[in-house]
Amino acid sequence: MTLAEAVVAGAGPAELASLEVPTRYRAVHLRKDEVGMFNGQTKDGQDKDVRRSLHVGEVPMPELAPDEVLVAVMASAINFNTVWSAMFEPIPTFAFLERFGRTDPRHDLPTHVLGSDAAGVVVRAGQAVRHWRPGDRVVTSPAYLDSQDPIVQHDGMLAADLRAWGFETNFGGLAEFAVVKATQLLPKPRHLSWEEAACNMLCASTAYRMLVGERGARMKQGDVVLLWGATGGLGAYGVQLVRNGGGIPVGVVSSPEKAALLRAMGCEHVVDRSRFDDLTEEKGWRGLGAEVRRLVGEDPAIVFEHTGKDTFGASVYVAKKGGKVVTCGSSSGYDHAYDNRHLWMRLKQIIGSHGANYQECHEINRLISLGMVHPTLSRVYPLAEAADAARAVQLNQHVGKVGVLALAPKEDLGIEDGRLRERIGEERLRLFRG
Ligand code: NAP
Repeated sequence: MTLAEAVVAGAGPAELASLEVPTRYRAVHLRKDEVGMFNGQTKDGQDKDVRRSLHVGEVPMPELAPDEVLVAVMASAINFNTVWSAMFEPIPTFAFLERFGRTDPRHDLPTHVLGSDAAGVVVRAGQAVRHWRPGDRVVTSPAYLDSQDPIVQHDGMLAADLRAWGFETNFGGLAEFAVVKATQLLPKPRHLSWEEAACNMLCASTAYRMLVGERGARMKQGDVVLLWGATGGLGAYGVQLVRNGGGIPVGVVSSPEKAALLRAMGCEHVVDRSRFDDLTEEKGWRGLGAEVRRLVGEDPAIVFEHTGKDTFGASVYVAKKGGKVVTCGSSSGYDHAYDNRHLWMRLKQIIGSHGANYQECHEINRLISLGMVHPTLSRVYPLAEAADAARAVQLNQHVGKVGVLALAPKEDLGIEDGRLRERIGEERLRLFRG
C-alpha cells in the first residue's frame, strides 16, 4: 500500500509513519521555461488563458525542514493568486522563488507548485514540530513565515520574510502532497467534508482581519458595510462576518443570479453594479452613494475593497464622514485613482490589510468549526481539471469558492460530526452549490 492509499483508507499514525514518502507526486504547477508565453498576446484579442500555463503532472518531493510538516492533501481550492500566478502577473512568481532560493534553495525550481489552501492529513512532521503528528486532520493557513522573528509576537503579518504559501513559495496545496510550516496548521472543522474544509481559510481569514481583527476596520454593531464582490471568494465570507457581528451589509454584485444568492445569504441590501455606467467617474460614485442611501438611509461606515482601480474612487467617495475603506487587493488594477478631497475633508481612513496572522486564522477557524461561518463552495473539480477550475475564476464565472479534489476520490468524504451538520442544515452548508 502506498502512503497516499493509506491516507485515503484512513490509516492510523503508526501505519502512516511506517510507509515510505514517494519521491514524486502529482501537482498543479507552472513551468519556468514558459514564463514568456503570453508576451504580446493581449493585443490581438487573446487573453492570458490560464489553461495554457497550468499543468498537472509529477514533480519531485522536497526534503522537509525541522519546523515543517508534510500534508497528504485531500482537497484544495482555487484562489485568485492562482490566477495571478498563471498569468505571470504582476510579475512571474518564479521571481519570488529565485529570491527565496537564496535562503532556502529547495524552492528555486523549474516548476512552481501552486495553491494556498488545503485540507488533509499530516503524514510527516519535522523534528522541531511539537503540536502536530501523523494522522492529524488539518486545514492550512497561507502565511509562511519565520516564527523566530520577534515581530511575529506582535503580528505575524509584519514578519520580514512573510510569504504567501503556494504563491511566493513552492510546494503549495493544489497537489497530492504539500509542505507547510507547523505554524500554518489548524484542526479541520469536523462537520465539513474535505472539499468544504479546504476552501475557506485564505479568504475567510483575510475577510476576518479586514473587518473584525484588531488591525482592520473593527466593525461595530449597526455599522453599514459596503462589500464589493459580495458573492465572490472574499465577499461571501465578509457578508457572513458582518451579519454575525450585528452590522448591516450592503452587497455589490453584477447579475440577478448573484443578487438572489446574496439575498438567500440574508443580505437584504443588494446593489447590482451593472446598472451604473462608469464607477471610475464622479457621476458613477454619486449614483452609487445615492443608491446606498436609498437602501439603508446612510453612508457606509466601512467599505470592503479588493476590486481596485475600477472601484476605489467610488469606495473613497461613498464611505461616510470618518468612515474606513479597508483594502486587500486590486483585481481590476493596482494604480488606483481617487479624489483626495473626499478623504481628507471628510476625515476618512484607508486601511491596508493582507492575509491574517495565526491567531486570526484560529479565530475564524473556530467560527467555522462552531458552524457560525459556513463554506461558500460552489463547484468542485478533480485535480486533473484544476486548470479549468482556475479558468472559471479568471473569467468571474464562479460564485464563492471553487474546490479541487486532490487525494479524496470523491466528494462528501471526511465528515466526522454529522450532528453539527444536521443542526446547521445541508441547505445552509450547500447554499452556494446551486
Ligand atoms: P473572486 O472570487 O474572483 O471574487 C471577486 C469578486 O469581485 C467577483 O465575484 C466580482 O463580483 C467582483 N469583481 C470583479 N471584478 C470587478 C470589477 N472590475 N468591479 C467590481 N467588482 C468586481 O476573488 P477573491 O478571492 O474574492 O479575491 C478578490 C481580490 O482580492 C483578488 O485580487 C485577490 O488577489 C485579492 N485577495 C487578496 C488577499 C490578501 O491577503 N491580500 C486575500 C484574498 C484575496 P461581481 O462580478 O458579482 O461584482
